[in-house]
Amino acid sequence: MSSPSKAQAADVHYRIAPADLHAHLFTVALTVARPAAGQELSLPVWIPGSYLIREFSRNLQALEARQGRHEVALTQLDKHRWQIGCTPGSPLELTYAVCAYDRSVRSAWLDADRGFFNGSSLCLRVHGQEKQRHTLDIAGTSATAQWSVATALEAIATDPRGFGRYAAADYDELIDCPVELGIFWVGRFKACGIPHQMLVSGATPAFDGQRLLTDTRKICETAIRFWHGPRGAAPHRRYLFMLHAVAEGYGGLEHRNCSALTCGRADLPRRQESRASEGYTTLLRLISHEYFHTWNVKRLRPAEFASYDYSRENYTELLWFFEGFTSYYDDLLLRRAGLIDDATYLRLLGKAINQLLQTPGRTLQTVAQASFDAWVKYYRQDENTANATVSYYTKGALVALCLDLTLRREGRTTLDEVMRALWARSAGGPITQADLCALLHTLAGRPFDEELAQWVHSTAELPLADLLAAHGVSLKAEPPQWAQRLGLRVTENHGLHIKSVLRGGAAEKAGLAAGDEWLGVQVQGQGWRIRQLDEMALYLGSGTALTALVARDGRLLQLERPVDERTGRGAESLGCRRKNRLHDHHRQRKSLCRRRRHRRDGQVQLCRRLQGRLHHPQLGNHPRHPQTRDCRRQRFCTGRRL
Ligand SMILES: [Zn+2]
Repeated sequence: MSSPSKAQAADVHYRIAPADLHAHLFTVALTVARPAAGQELSLPVWIPGSYLIREFSRNLQALEARQGRHEVALTQLDKHRWQIGCTPGSPLELTYAVCAYDRSVRSAWLDADRGFFNGSSLCLRVHGQEKQRHTLDIAGTSATAQWSVATALEAIATDPRGFGRYAAADYDELIDCPVELGIFWVGRFKACGIPHQMLVSGATPAFDGQRLLTDTRKICETAIRFWHGPRGAAPHRRYLFMLHAVAEGYGGLEHRNCSALTCGRADLPRRQESRASEGYTTLLRLISHEYFHTWNVKRLRPAEFASYDYSRENYTELLWFFEGFTSYYDDLLLRRAGLIDDATYLRLLGKAINQLLQTPGRTLQTVAQASFDAWVKYYRQDENTANATVSYYTKGALVALCLDLTLRREGRTTLDEVMRALWARSAGGPITQADLCALLHTLAGRPFDEELAQWVHSTAELPLADLLAAHGVSLKAEPPQWAQRLGLRVTENHGLHIKSVLRGGAAEKAGLAAGDEWLGVQVQGQGWRIRQLDEMALYLGSGTALTALVARDGRLLQLERPVDERTGRGAESLGCRRKNRLHDHHRQRKSLCRRRRHRRDGQVQLCRRLQGRLHHPQLGNHPRHPQTRDCRRQRFCTGRRL
């Protein structure tokens, strides 16, 4: 408990109560001790880290204003701003309710089991007073007698269950610290001396909390040492993971001192489970990703985010760096922490490469444009997304890989050192692409402007195969799966439904369309019901002609030849094109690839060569090239100890 003065309400003070669980209503009372004449207030239209205008004010209702005993008139200026007809000199009190029924990490939720909110959904911004200290009371009700509260906000007068008063240095901090209410599991650990808490709600009795803590601690320690070395100090004094387990769901949102995460219940580690499930590995990747953001985007950030504008889109071309490079390191740090092995790391890398190559939009949109357009494209995905856009997560991560492999091949520096130098140079603050270019020039001894122009500002293919080969990893083409052969993205729950039709593929040529339900096929006069694309193999083994039967807008349609009858393949499927493109490379490397067994769950597979076979033409003449040594030390992309 702190001193009485510190515990006093600030000039901007909120009281939030989970007032009606079944109606999903939080009530908010906001007191502005020193209002301006005609005080203006607004609710953010977006939440940092999630680049979409979400119009949080649509859930705000019953706004009233009073000064003393007098009701004060208020004028709504637009969708999210109000002007209050108040006078200076006496406190202004506003009351309102917010309907909280968004289960994601970006808004607010309230029901009989749990409450969660971001300040951006509940806390009106008092214009002109954003930089002041803000306080927040979280009140319980009789219905929440068994609940607790957790948040990264500073607690200044709270009861043992966490209800009571919290403080934030300013409005930015207030809305950067979401609040969890309910009955949840909490574990604690220290990473490099920093106290960390892990909160888990929605878990089943089989949940192995200790394992999650142990593994998360390894991630945190690896990240802190990545940025600051063995003795450096991290920028945060404490950290809170807020993990909510649901039947189906996945996502996370980064904050300066905490992260809000959602995972599938089945992804949580279970007692007596000896090996990490694929779902648990996915959860660890999410934890690693959001924790890395503690540095990369929450502190080191685009110059455009130096000061957030909560009233409109905040455009930047740099999400390929802040999301993509974070995605590159989330897996790499799991490998360095010993939480995944070489094979898993390569499988994840192969998956990312396949994702990029199966996106026709990569030939239309640069990854810098994708960053800028996130507000209307990445966050508003539809049936044409794959044809017209590229993911700044996936391609950004592969740009990081290309950059790292190039730097290591040249032997003067690594991407790790570039990231740390950026941190040091900016004092953990805003940067531009010019800052990155300048540092690359200094550390690598030559400019990288041309590479960045090619990889980031053009739609040219990334030189993945060559760079991986130089580090002892080869790409091996695999037979395409049915979705790739046909040029389709589908869902196969309760029937075969077409999500999108890829540009130039066999399915597009046959006239299949997003939204169709593919009911069956007709082959040689016989009709067959299909529920999964893989069943096509039963009917197309001989490469015979085929008619597709689809349901569209209540009608049944017959579409001829969705598959090339001569080859039995999608005539111009991405898979075939890619296979051809990689064919020469594959032929050159096949003797090396044959020495290893390969998994076959993607179209391009990565395979390692033995250490002794790390013979890039240049490296062959320089067996003690420093880059080779670096790679071994980093356990990255070499032979036995990849
Ligand atoms: Zn991210």
